[in-house]
Amino acid sequence: HSEVDPNAFVEERDYEAALRPKTLSEFDGQPRVREQLGLVLEAAMHRGTAPDHVLLSGPPGLGKTTLAMIIAAELGSGLRISSGPAIQHAGDLAAILSGLDEGDVLFLDEIHRLSRPAEEMLYLAMEDFRVDVIVGKGPGATAIPINLPPFTLVGATTRAGMLPGPLRDRFGFTGQLDFYDPADLAGIVEASAAKLGISIDEQARGEIARRSRGTPRIANRLLRRVRDFAQVKGHATAHRDVARSALELYEVDERGLDRLDRGVLDALCRLFDGGPVGLSTLALSVGEEIETVSEVAEPFLIREGLLVRTPRGRLATRAAYRHLGIRPPAAMPA
Ligand code: ADP
Repeated sequence: HSEVDPNAFVEERDYEAALRPKTLSEFDGQPRVREQLGLVLEAAMHRGTAPDHVLLSGPPGLGKTTLAMIIAAELGSGLRISSGPAIQHAGDLAAILSGLDEGDVLFLDEIHRLSRPAEEMLYLAMEDFRVDVIVGKGPGATAIPINLPPFTLVGATTRAGMLPGPLRDRFGFTGQLDFYDPADLAGIVEASAAKLGISIDEQARGEIARRSRGTPRIANRLLRRVRDFAQVKGHATAHRDVARSALELYEVDERGLDRLDRGVLDALCRLFDGGPVGLSTLALSVGEEIETVSEVAEPFLIREGLLVRTPRGRLATRAAYRHLGIRPPAAMPA
């Protein structure tokens, strides 16, 4: 059975919705972003205006969507959600924009993947709260300006560096989300367990936190796997050993590397002798999309000091060989 189980996706989505903190004070970790964002929101509410457009950047699963929802909730505003890839034509964006009510929050996920024409329409909308809708074709085409109510755009991107300057400059505030430390993640696991009615002790929460790669989405996912395991094996409470056995079963190692991460490292060390090797070759050798390797696996591997990006390609570090338990090439610098 190689087909993807559609229920798996629904399960993930339902859980995410159920586990999302609803207010800024419920949002664990990221103290800097929380304080900065809190100030932006409070000042705007004080003035009675829509706050500046907000850009949230950082790897997947760190809370960008959650923060967008929190922004709307804290402001008491309506929320519209779309994403760069979902907007095929500028007309799609025009339809979304002209449907906004005053003060609405528009969340655009993966904003770095908007098409050029949509992006240019967004410039005008962000700056002047206006869109020009083109009617007709060729020399007879005319632009009809439509005024928009003031709104707040919340853009999310996994790569702030890939946004064109003019787009980046139109955001009044950029929140850079970082990986969470294990203490914050343990807190998130505790809150999630409480919401799901799962009994899990402190050590087991710590096991999950340490292996979650600094990412709340992963922590929540691992918690569910530990819950399944505890349930099926008949443990009323998930203790440390239950957590360990469950995580071992799902191939999440002590340091939080999963199959994908280990696959990337393994290919780099064994197939390419530690590199340098180009990203696309590396992605191909593990049978993954380029973006999955560069945005999901690599940020974590880099942060763990297991992989480095160089102009000539990806390199494994000595620590990578040590982690995989294989001998580094003799020529490798210490
Ligand atoms: P992103 O949009 O950055 O990919 P999400 O906002 O969808 O990430 O978050 C993924 C999951 O992690 C959600 O279920 C959310 O509840 C949880 N989560 C993210 N950040 C936090 C946080 N700071 N506190 C508690 N839960 C969080």
